[in-house]
Amino acid sequence: MNTARRTLIKGAAALGALSAASTVAIAQPFLFSPTTELMPKGKKRRVVVLGGGWGGLSTARHLRDTAPELEVVLLEKNPLFWSCPLSNKWLVDVVDTAFLVHSYPAAAKRFGYTYVQTEITDIDRDKKRVHTAQGYVDYDWLVVSAGIRVSYEPWFGNDRQAIAYTNTHYSSAYVPSAEHLSLKQKIQAFKGGTIVMTLPPPPHRCPPSPYERACLMANHFQKHKIPAKIVILDPKPRIAPIGGGYRLAFDDLYDDIITHVPNAGVRELDPYNKVIKTAAGDFKFDDAIFMGHHQAADLVWKLGAVGKTADGKPTNWAAVHPEFYNMKDDPQVFVIGDSVGAVSPQFGHYPKSGHVANRMGHSVAGYIAQQSKGQPLTPRIIDNLCFMLVNTEPLEAISVKFEYKMGLEGHLVQTLTDDNDRRQALWQEDLLWYGTKIADMVGS
Ligand SMILES: Cc1cc2nc3c(=O)[nH]c(=O)nc-3n(C[C@H](O)[C@H](O)[C@H](O)COP(=O)(O)OP(=O)(O)OC[C@H]3O[C@@H](n4cnc5c(N)ncnc54)[C@H](O)[C@@H]3O)c2cc1C
Repeated sequence: MNTARRTLIKGAAALGALSAASTVAIAQPFLFSPTTELMPKGKKRRVVVLGGGWGGLSTARHLRDTAPELEVVLLEKNPLFWSCPLSNKWLVDVVDTAFLVHSYPAAAKRFGYTYVQTEITDIDRDKKRVHTAQGYVDYDWLVVSAGIRVSYEPWFGNDRQAIAYTNTHYSSAYVPSAEHLSLKQKIQAFKGGTIVMTLPPPPHRCPPSPYERACLMANHFQKHKIPAKIVILDPKPRIAPIGGGYRLAFDDLYDDIITHVPNAGVRELDPYNKVIKTAAGDFKFDDAIFMGHHQAADLVWKLGAVGKTADGKPTNWAAVHPEFYNMKDDPQVFVIGDSVGAVSPQFGHYPKSGHVANRMGHSVAGYIAQQSKGQPLTPRIIDNLCFMLVNTEPLEAISVKFEYKMGLEGHLVQTLTDDNDRRQALWQEDLLWYGTKIADMVGS
């Protein structure tokens, strides 16, 4: 059996587990019921972390060091940690499944917190209580790092059938789920024709990653002599970030495969007859990857943390303190990671990246420790770093770095530096970056 096939099968098993219910859990009562107390509180005050992704894992892990006096409970619906960072490389077999998948129980045991695999269904802030499919859990501090939800409503309104059809046939694999496996199977089975890929309007999860995906798919089609065209329908006027590096990669390496169409916001989609109408023209397609609009995760809406515009409409993202990430009316409830809304009039949102979510989790572990000890909070400035692979023979990446400081006007200021010069050294740095982050979050 060849490596690609082996990887695909290992991926199938891991991702099958992601979509199936599993009994992996720690500290659960014998009988589960949404109305039972899942974990009665002991003497220690408790931090409950919702979501075991890049932000949640980092929070839980660092709390054990910063606040050993507190009990830490991580609630997560998936039985395995699945990393979206590096998943584009996995789609075309540059890395294998073992790179992306890690064990929650092993991480919890290693760092000394409790992981419970369960679907979180609601949050009652008055009672300081989280409801799950298996019972409720009370908290003293709450950290919500639940990622994003992908919304197709702006295209289809309430047409549930079109939404379900689009989700099933053209899903984007932008959240940790079995969608990654269907996308991998789609790419590997593709025999030729036109694939369109829509980008969500900003802000969205990991802005440079859709272009990376296009490069790696083009590279795969080239290598396997598949007569494919990839049309990137981008609502933005230009490629960003790392626009120069991507432009060079598209022109030098994939000129006959990739077409980037700017200002191509989606106006109408007929998923059944495979036609998409955009502000830059109409396109027919043989297959597609449709990235719907990104919004804060459902749990943030249930928490009541979604901000409002001046005219009272939802901003679709959490309104939190720009440096401490707590809800404005509750210093002990934090929202971190991709769900966070605009934090600065200069740059709007922090980049929605694993790096940022991880740094926020680390910071919040420090803030909770300070609150627990009755100390004033010391702001911790974060940064961001992303490497994007654009070629596989040789393995060459480009990168973007974001730095922040508190400006004289009293709001955060961002400096963004693109590294457009694709080279192997950046791929090596990517692997090093990823290994360090994974060790920080799961310890392996
Ligand atoms: C293709 C791709 C490539 C990327 N590449 C990079 C990269 O190279 N570098 C980088 O820094 N970032 C990258 N990212 C972005 C990164 O994945 C996200 O920014 C990061 O995962 C955000 O962390 P989070 O904790 O906010 O959300 P997530 O990591 O998505 O974690 C949210 C968790 O909450 C859980 N959850 C949600 N709702 C519930 C519920 N009701 N009950 C129980 N559990 C729930 C989910 O299962 C999930 O595990 C990439 C993303 C994609 C899609």
